[in-house]
Amino acid sequence: MLLTLTTTHRPATDLGYLLVKHPDRVQSFNLPAGTAHFFYPEADAARCTAALLVDIDPQRLGAGRGRGRRQAATPESFTLGQYVNDRAYAASSLLSSALSTVFRSALRGESRDRPELAGTAIPLEVRVPVLRCRGGADLAVRLFAPLGWTVTATPVPLDEQHPDWGDSRYVDLLLTGTVRVADTLNHLYVLLPVLDDAKHYWVAPDEIDKLLRAGAGWLGDHPERGLITRRYLAHRRALAEQAMARLAELRLADEPPADDSVDETEPTAEKDSRRASLAVRRRGAVLAALAASGASRVLDLGCGGGALLTALVADRRYTEIGGTDVSIHALSMAARRLRLDRLPERQRDRVRLWQSALTYRDDRLRGWDAAVLMEVIEHLDPPRLPALEDAVFGHARPGTVVLTTPNVEYNVRYEGLGAGGFRHPDHRFEWTRAEFADWVEGVAARYGYAATISGIGDDDPEVGAPTQLAVLTRKDETPR
Ligand code: SAH
Repeated sequence: MLLTLTTTHRPATDLGYLLVKHPDRVQSFNLPAGTAHFFYPEADAARCTAALLVDIDPQRLGAGRGRGRRQAATPESFTLGQYVNDRAYAASSLLSSALSTVFRSALRGESRDRPELAGTAIPLEVRVPVLRCRGGADLAVRLFAPLGWTVTATPVPLDEQHPDWGDSRYVDLLLTGTVRVADTLNHLYVLLPVLDDAKHYWVAPDEIDKLLRAGAGWLGDHPERGLITRRYLAHRRALAEQAMARLAELRLADEPPADDSVDETEPTAEKDSRRASLAVRRRGAVLAALAASGASRVLDLGCGGGALLTALVADRRYTEIGGTDVSIHALSMAARRLRLDRLPERQRDRVRLWQSALTYRDDRLRGWDAAVLMEVIEHLDPPRLPALEDAVFGHARPGTVVLTTPNVEYNVRYEGLGAGGFRHPDHRFEWTRAEFADWVEGVAARYGYAATISGIGDDDPEVGAPTQLAVLTRKDETPR
């Protein structure tokens, strides 16, 4: 059985970094019921295709039975069926198991060499030439289309010589879309066995965890989540009910936090792309400032849903990462986004999250190389700002503080934002460039830091850039 994944993102060979597989090498992986071969049929800057070929040994597949593992009535349940079946050729839950073996870190969205790209949707094409599809081509569309894929599912005729015999239960599946590689792999990992609907192994309760982990961020809102859950859990009703209950709980907790406030008031058509691009640029600018500071132990203060933490964790130069927020809800979102429970122990030990209010001194904030305050200060009432200054610059005293806040002058460029309006309902103030410079210089002078100020986003000749950035560097080397 075969699966190919093609990108035209440039340079397309970056796919190798995202899949954590070198483009020049053929690799083989031992599976319980056969061997998976991984290679690149084409790999140049314009187009790169990765192929996963799974070679199943029907006898080894049969041998797995009878060792306390009960099975549903799949073709191989019958004696002859053990040897004469489609398992070796048609994509099924066996392919899904192979995916999880071969792409262990790519499924988690980890890429040491291309962490930013791993978080970015890129043009992709997935092809599974022979997929067992119970429910027909139409079901393949219902499962993949809501996830942003353009689906072409062509039924494979039972016999090409006899079109009147009708279609087989297989489809030739082609997905095209602009999707993150990790999301793509997780979609396939869950949905291929759902379409197959005949798991080759006994479904134990830990399959619920696997489903919820792989479905994080997309399964909860999927219109077919009921069917997906039932089939994934091999129609075991108690398990499916438990999974649905946990999914519903996750969805409740998934209400957007008060972060990434920027561009809230833009007309919806433009809003998403511009909002994404400014948020991405802001994160990029903060990461660049951190990298330039040479810090290896960094704090994200007011980390919100953990967008920056995710990028920090993906970057090995950061040996210790702390995230704090006053909101428990934000912290639990961050933990989920980081998939802390899926990180290997050594990775997990690099990250600590805890609840802390920035208006109180917290000893755990002392002794770090750098701290980030990204889009946080404007959430505090102005009379509370001196308390934050004391807690961060007076008590914690990191070597570097990277701080961003909106530039209120830029708001006139946002249609629909009335005069005097802020970008987010929870903002207590938004500053002009002069007000920000004033505050930054005051803090620097009072606490012994040197400051540089710049902008993030397109610099408008009249009103400046949408986001203001300050980098403060501690002057003395010994903490007070
Ligand atoms: N830094 C994140 C989130 C910004 S939103 C990002 O850029 O995406 C502001 C965050 O600050 C929210 O998560 C909010 O809960 C947190 N926050 C607000 N007041 C705080 C306080 N006094 N102490 C700690 N965190 C606070």
